[in-house]
Amino acid sequence: MAKPVTTFVCSACGATHKKWAGRCDACGEWNTIAEEAPLSQGPAGKGLGAAKGARVALSDLRTEEAAPPRHSSQMNELDRVLGGGLVPASATLVGGDPGIGKSTLLLQAAASFARAGLKVIYVSGEEATAQVRMRAQRLGLADSAVLLAAETNLRDILTTLEAEAPDLAIIDSVQTMWLDTVDSAPGSVSQVRAAAHELTTFAKRRGTAVMLVGHVTKEGQIAGPRVVEHMVDTVLYFEGERGHQFRILRSVKNRFGPADEIGVFEMTGAGLSEVANPSALFLSDREKPSPGSVVFAGIEGTRPVLVEVQALVAPSSLSQPRRAVVGWDGGRLSMILAVLEARAGITFQGLDVYLNIAGGMRINEPAADLAVAAALLSAREDAALPHDTVVFGELSLSGALRPVSQAENRLKEAMKLGFSTAIAPAGCKISQNSGVTVQSTEDLPRFVGEVFGAG
Ligand SMILES: [Zn+2]
Repeated sequence: MAKPVTTFVCSACGATHKKWAGRCDACGEWNTIAEEAPLSQGPAGKGLGAAKGARVALSDLRTEEAAPPRHSSQMNELDRVLGGGLVPASATLVGGDPGIGKSTLLLQAAASFARAGLKVIYVSGEEATAQVRMRAQRLGLADSAVLLAAETNLRDILTTLEAEAPDLAIIDSVQTMWLDTVDSAPGSVSQVRAAAHELTTFAKRRGTAVMLVGHVTKEGQIAGPRVVEHMVDTVLYFEGERGHQFRILRSVKNRFGPADEIGVFEMTGAGLSEVANPSALFLSDREKPSPGSVVFAGIEGTRPVLVEVQALVAPSSLSQPRRAVVGWDGGRLSMILAVLEARAGITFQGLDVYLNIAGGMRINEPAADLAVAAALLSAREDAALPHDTVVFGELSLSGALRPVSQAENRLKEAMKLGFSTAIAPAGCKISQNSGVTVQSTEDLPRFVGEVFGAG
């Protein structure tokens, strides 16, 4: 029988490596690889043998399943991200940076579900029950019927959950839970995976919805939420800059609804409050038209959202000019700069470039390319775009503009917020009566000529 070999596992992404290294090849994080106790390899070389199992019933694709019943949290933004409400027997992971407000959000959700008549158990492995109770009082939730426990031993927790049979169990956080059968420290990849596996199995077996909190960590000793993403039905990330009051709950995976849906919250003294109209909020501190500022008409999940893209271009004293990005992909910025140089002859050599998405928002859509290019040009030329204009469109390496999806919805949202002009790729399907004047552009050189003159 082969001797079990020790493996080295990245705590950020869960990739396994044969030997230790300072940097993970799979995700690029530094200092996240740690040694893991080997898993049992099972009886080696035996296979299943000759004994036959039972035949499994097969069905065809026409069989119709009823849509899963859902419980509303009475918080529209949370329901939207969950795909229309909480599904019984589902496992949901809520990840995010420590201190961003995950416990606050889940305590509010717990109270809300309890008020709607669900039996809710909130297990905290991080805080004593007194601390959770104090937070509940601060949030004005002290009168709700949520059951609390402070425990980290998963065997005790599962025994309790089996006996109580709640509709919803919230585990805060999965990194503090430990199984007495797993031979490594709480927070290690094997403990976190085993705990998540036990809890999701429990959810399926007993029909309880389970929500797991997972902290995004930078140290190698504690496994991050990514190592359990594949086990759960729904993965939500709670994002936002700590200095900003806005928080965004984003679904990156959802077996019961659309992914990439966002819910927007505002952090207030009394906890998180929902933001029904995020566009108005992201644009609220926009003053006069200013160079470098462009409004992007984006789509997040099924909802149009207008956000402000801000760029600053300044002479650089460095031999390698700075490229700093907040809220967008740095590689994508390099691509836009290269396309601007190669296809429109506009160079950013010797210039520092800063790009920021206002309000702590993060954009993943390629449809933001044109808005980013416009912001960069506007900053470089020191020429502001008209105040009432939104921009969207994907840029290809050839400099051509590609049509993007849901152009109508983007325009509708722009009209609702008082914008009268949109700059969009020529190929977009747009009906004439959208209420917004659309300036269609075919490629980048033409866009530069039309919007910024000869450059
Ligand atoms: Zn990794």
